[in-house]
Amino acid sequence: MSWFKRDHSAVKLPRLRDGERRVRTEGLWQKCDGCRQIIWKKDLENNWSLCPKCGHHFRLDVTARLKLLLDDGDYETFDDGLTSSDPLGFEDSKLYRDRLVTMQEATHLSDALIAAAGKLAGRRVQICVMDIRFIGGSMGCVVGEKITRAIERSLAESSPLIVVSASGGARMQEGAVSLMQMAKVSAGLMRLDEAKLPYISILTDPTTGGVTASFAMLGDLNIAEPGALIGFAGPRVIEQTIRQKLPEGFQRSEFLLKHGMLDAVVPRLEMKPYLAKALEFFAG
Ligand SMILES: [Zn+2]
Repeated sequence: MSWFKRDHSAVKLPRLRDGERRVRTEGLWQKCDGCRQIIWKKDLENNWSLCPKCGHHFRLDVTARLKLLLDDGDYETFDDGLTSSDPLGFEDSKLYRDRLVTMQEATHLSDALIAAAGKLAGRRVQICVMDIRFIGGSMGCVVGEKITRAIERSLAESSPLIVVSASGGARMQEGAVSLMQMAKVSAGLMRLDEAKLPYISILTDPTTGGVTASFAMLGDLNIAEPGALIGFAGPRVIEQTIRQKLPEGFQRSEFLLKHGMLDAVVPRLEMKPYLAKALEFFAG
């Protein structure tokens, strides 16, 4: 592939023997989808997963997200031990039960969402952050239950709720149980609305399927990060179904904002001040 050769030659690698080079450099570099340059991963990590050259938004680690948004990077978590009971006894290429264990070991999370609370610009908030690494950030009974419990804590202490989504949609391995979470969380959010407590939804790359079709689009404010893929079905599926070429930028944040599906597109480093201002407005 031509781009690889070009970009690779632009990067000065340390002088090592061939075998050594492969070992030492593996996984240290990342190609940027925005500017196609090769970036040192350490530079990405130190820059909140933003490309230091073009500002492209890479996916941000859940704990980094909480640190970025909450005062002093300080927060407490809830329901960390909640895991799926595998209600269907599901099996595809491997047992769902085993898949869960593998994921839990790889991510050190019980499921695809962290529920936390902390202060945002001095104001107490409940915040849930989804992790795309955990079975595609899919929503099963644990994700639904954790958000519902966060809503209940919001109601109990009259604090706003923020949910940061990153998801491939409902978790197929839990069948109808996962689809029920859409209704359950939506009903919970209605209670928040009746109590006049703000709920802000932040959509990050990618937010699709049942998550978009429920809580990710039900915010008093629906805010996305730049360039995030947001939709229900994927662009390829739609294109094949309607047999038409989709417009440029279809299902990206900016396109959705332009067509009235979002309230704002806010760059990652501006998100906290934006949220602080919004919450102040809601409180007033
Ligand atoms: Zn870039």
